[in-house]
Amino acid sequence: MGVGLPPIYAIVISLAIYFGIRIFVGRRKKMIEESVGEGICVKCGSKIENKKCPICDRKKLGNV
Ligand SMILES: [Zn+2]
Repeated sequence: MGVGLPPIYAIVISLAIYFGIRIFVGRRKKMIEESVGEGICVKCGSKIENKKCPICDRKKLGNV
């Protein structure tokens, strides 16, 4: 075992980290897009389902 890593290992590791982060961020972005889906309610910030806010729409239904 030598002292420190050969430069090629540093390059390989930094590339692995770079692509690892890119894949991780890409997946996370996709997950957020999927979870957000139709969007977020501007009033309460909850997830829109079936083009309706489950909280604000519930209030509306309560009024009716
Ligand atoms: Zn809402």
